[in-house]
Amino acid sequence: MSLTERFGPERALPAPLAPLYEIAHNLWWTWDAEATRLMIELDPVLWKSGRHNPLAVIEALDAPRVAALAADADFTARLAAVRDRQRAYLGGGEPPIDLDFGGRLVGYFCAEFGIHESLPIYSGGLGILAGDHLKAASDRDLPLVAVGLAYRYGYFHQEVDLAGRQHEVYLANDFERLPMALVHDRFGEPLTLSLPYPGRKVLAHVWKVSVGRIPLYLLDTDVPGNNAEDRSITGHLYGGNEDTRVRQEFLLGVGGLRALRAMGIAPAVCHLNEGHSSFLCLEQLRRHVVDGSQTFERAMASVRAGCVFTTHTPVPAGNDNFEVAHVMQYLRPLAAGMDEPVERLIALGLTDPANPHERFEMTVLALRLSRFANGVSALHGEVSRGMWQHLWPDRTTAQVPITSVTNGVHMPTWIAPEIEALRREAGAGAPAPERLWSEHEHLRSELIGGVRRRLRRQLERNGAPAQEILDIDRVFDPHTLTIGFARRFAEYKRATLLMSDPDRFVRLLANADRPVQMLMAGKAHPRSEPGKLLIQRVWELSRIPALRGRLVLLEGYDIALARRMVQGADIWLNTPRRPLEASGTSGMKAAANGALNLSVLDGWWCEGYDGRNGWAFGDDHGVDEATQDARDADELFELLEKVVVPMFYDRGPDGLPRAWIERMQHAMSSVVPRFSTERMVDEYAGRFYLPCAMDD
Ligand SMILES: *Cc1c(COP(=O)(O)O)cnc(C)c1O
Repeated sequence: MSLTERFGPERALPAPLAPLYEIAHNLWWTWDAEATRLMIELDPVLWKSGRHNPLAVIEALDAPRVAALAADADFTARLAAVRDRQRAYLGGGEPPIDLDFGGRLVGYFCAEFGIHESLPIYSGGLGILAGDHLKAASDRDLPLVAVGLAYRYGYFHQEVDLAGRQHEVYLANDFERLPMALVHDRFGEPLTLSLPYPGRKVLAHVWKVSVGRIPLYLLDTDVPGNNAEDRSITGHLYGGNEDTRVRQEFLLGVGGLRALRAMGIAPAVCHLNEGHSSFLCLEQLRRHVVDGSQTFERAMASVRAGCVFTTHTPVPAGNDNFEVAHVMQYLRPLAAGMDEPVERLIALGLTDPANPHERFEMTVLALRLSRFANGVSALHGEVSRGMWQHLWPDRTTAQVPITSVTNGVHMPTWIAPEIEALRREAGAGAPAPERLWSEHEHLRSELIGGVRRRLRRQLERNGAPAQEILDIDRVFDPHTLTIGFARRFAEYKRATLLMSDPDRFVRLLANADRPVQMLMAGKAHPRSEPGKLLIQRVWELSRIPALRGRLVLLEGYDIALARRMVQGADIWLNTPRRPLEASGTSGMKAAANGALNLSVLDGWWCEGYDGRNGWAFGDDHGVDEATQDARDADELFELLEKVVVPMFYDRGPDGLPRAWIERMQHAMSSVVPRFSTERMVDEYAGRFYLPCAMDD
């Protein structure tokens, strides 16, 4: 098989700048601090306007700037050094001797990948986790290939108007100007899959994104030969109706596997990261029956031997389910190939095939055909066992075969380079309090600068009154205790918990001696009116005189804003209604930077909190929601008023909050090793991938 991969057009550059494309074509640069610095230095203004996309910046550099860079000996020497380091990295590191896969591969399937803000094919936590998974797999040199979809419009870009209303803006991705290479066949034509959809064939191209050593293949149906509707299958992430979702998920699962096979890649293990890719189990089944001449039962066992499934949400609506008649149309060709009635495939996605009212559940399908299944924190594992116990009626809840692998974050992506330098210097010890505090204060003021710039853009676009624009310079204070809250505006996350008592909230923030400021960001699902109302409520509060400049809601939450927030906040607030937060990962990013989590004991925090690395509150023992909300709010206020705020402002003669800094040091040392994706992928590899690969 001689496939080739072609990136979009490159401009001619002077020889000393030649490494630019090589570096920019692999997303490794996104987690290498020096490589990132070089990309920004190309042109800091274009960097901002070009959505942090080096390829767009390189293309837009004017001739004098190109000449100046090429003549800058220091810059070009650093560029060459980064290029050499990238090559050395890609050439292979230390293969994990304890994880010898004997040449077998893991296929990792996910509906979204959040690797960098310049590649907007993600929505939130699931995608970021998948992106971090790939980066860690690359660092550990695991034999993994990933599969996803090349969304033309990605998820929406959020704008918030002067009334606090969210607007969804869709910006088209220009794949030719992203680090995506179109896969071509041996005839030099784009590799084209032809997939059996009801009553027609749907064609798909394949793009390759290099995430360090890991290839990520993205399927794209926006190709000539498809009708307009089919061209838009890969249009919007989580967009459209049920039909769109089935088409997308059929593409991801069935198309994804066929794409790998068309490229000569046969994964011994398939990891279904959330149920969106569950149809791949049925394609594997078909292959074992048709190509392997196995009986249906034998083929089921074969599929199961090689599948790993991770479930990500205890919220029922987060588990995709479809009308049976609808799914049937898609499964018919697969069933026909196996010479089996389609009902036999449908039954695999139903709890009780005899019940004519049931819907086809992707999670049920995945659980039935996976050898290993897991939730994403210890508590979520427990909740999932209860949630899916009905599939194993002869077992107790504790015996339900769903275990847990607690999520992690890719530390080099999320830890500020300044903090990482301190950590490295300190070795086994903790960074010195004075240095840690001064770097942290610097990062907080950087965050505030970023907040003002973003707010200015937001208000100017909305045509805000001139006075309001002038007042932006007085938004936030660089020495004030800063609370960060950034997450999806879903009801169970209770973004307005602190605002349930507005007077007490005002007293907390506007305290003359010990003020507090709060930065919030996050998107509401386009069809979630309650979520949008939460945004509006926060927005309106942020504009009452007592809270102006103390409470800010920023539009456009994305990876770039997340990075800034977790690196600059003092407190990372999380207020989910327990036990609905499966894991949560933003708190891990914050702790790794020395922010202190103030969080409901839910998701990862149940494992992460040790009494000294942040604070915990919240309970769900036998009370109704309203009571739970009121109690949690009261507990949260008490903690802030009596413990958190006093500790932050308790300064010694040197002006340092010693007790606070000690907590920061402890937060970093207790969270970084345990909640890294390195630990996480090692767990997936050792506990799941390896046993599957060995039996292949
Ligand atoms: C980390 C991250 C998330 C997920 O964090 P949660 O704590 O689960 O909300 C979502 N969106 C972005 C942009 C992130 O960086």
